[in-house]
Amino acid sequence: MSGPVPAPPSPVPAPNFIPLCVPEIRGNEWAYVKDCLDTGWVSSVGSYVDRFERELAGYVGSPHAVAAVNGTSALHIALLLAGVEPDDEVLVSTITFIAPANAIRYANAWPVFVDADPDVWQMDPEKLAGFLERDCEGRDGVLRNRRTGRRVRAIMPVHILGHPCDLDPLLELARRYELAVIEDATESLGATYRGKAVGTLGDSGCFSFNGNKLITTGGGGMLVTGREDWARRAKHLTTQAKTGDAPTEYIHDEVGYNYRLTNVLAAIGCAQLELLDEYVAAKLRISARYRDALADVPGLTMPPRAEWAAPVDWLFTVLVDEARYGTGSRDLLRRLGERKIQTRPLWEPMHLSQPHRGGPATDCSVAERLYRQALSLPCSVGLTETDQDRVIAALREFAAV
Ligand SMILES: *Cc1c(COP(=O)(O)O)cnc(C)c1O
Repeated sequence: MSGPVPAPPSPVPAPNFIPLCVPEIRGNEWAYVKDCLDTGWVSSVGSYVDRFERELAGYVGSPHAVAAVNGTSALHIALLLAGVEPDDEVLVSTITFIAPANAIRYANAWPVFVDADPDVWQMDPEKLAGFLERDCEGRDGVLRNRRTGRRVRAIMPVHILGHPCDLDPLLELARRYELAVIEDATESLGATYRGKAVGTLGDSGCFSFNGNKLITTGGGGMLVTGREDWARRAKHLTTQAKTGDAPTEYIHDEVGYNYRLTNVLAAIGCAQLELLDEYVAAKLRISARYRDALADVPGLTMPPRAEWAAPVDWLFTVLVDEARYGTGSRDLLRRLGERKIQTRPLWEPMHLSQPHRGGPATDCSVAERLYRQALSLPCSVGLTETDQDRVIAALREFAAV
């Protein structure tokens, strides 16, 4: 090999770089982690795991919470609790980060995708109703997809971007068709639907503490449920399904998983949770400033806010209408990048993605338009007004006049 060796990528961000959404560490994280290290309680048993579970359950108002190594594993366990079996189908939003679709496949079931509602960008209850009514049939007390012949077992609404799905009609459909409801609330911790925390309205709900989420443990997750037997089984399944009958023996009664959250990470979670209300307030402040400053820009659509929702505005996402704004979302992403402003499109809709393509339950034209037009803007909890003003100025400058 000859020629110059390229410089390794620098872990230090360039000066003036405005990231999309980075963690905010400024509370008791150091103190609690030091406590774990000083006492030797670093692994999967310890007081911070119990405390994080108890305090998160208290925060959202759920009777039970079980910690997991990440949000994806919490979703996997939630599917098993709901009785999802191999070859079953689970109805899930097509506009989502890929984790829930993958979790459904881990359970050897099949994701079947539902379009987004054009007004709130969340799972469309009317399209879901149309699918259940026209494309499914009850046979011997089992609901089946007519096209595939498979049993339809559960609905997994994903509360994307910090805004709740319209849950009442979804819960009503679940009751009518006897489907379990697993809420993917990983992007919306703290948001409420008609006064109740998302994650607590279905049979179970899952949260994530990945680095880009509202609060983080580096990586982590939580399953909440109102059912004590489910909570017990969730703990069992996340800890290799070891029986407690003879505690000194290694006796396991089924195939379990090592999905435990460590005490060190739970300690970070306890510290982060103490500041969650402040973080939500910061997100809402950022969101309000963007709305004020950008609402009149032709071709930019501000994110929805349904009257029944108290969102947390986790990721501030606008729609860019190329014809009216003068630049498409991807070109805008590139031009903002040249100004050291990081933005991101939404996820490729699941019904188009390589691993999950095919067989959407409904027409998914809304999701496809959102995918073309959406762009998420910098909205870290610690974003300064000066930096936000730079983003706003660039967006106004690039607009066609
Ligand atoms: C972040 C996220 C998850 C879970 O992610 P983990 O990284 O496994 O914690 C699940 N679903 C959605 C929609 C997400 O955004």
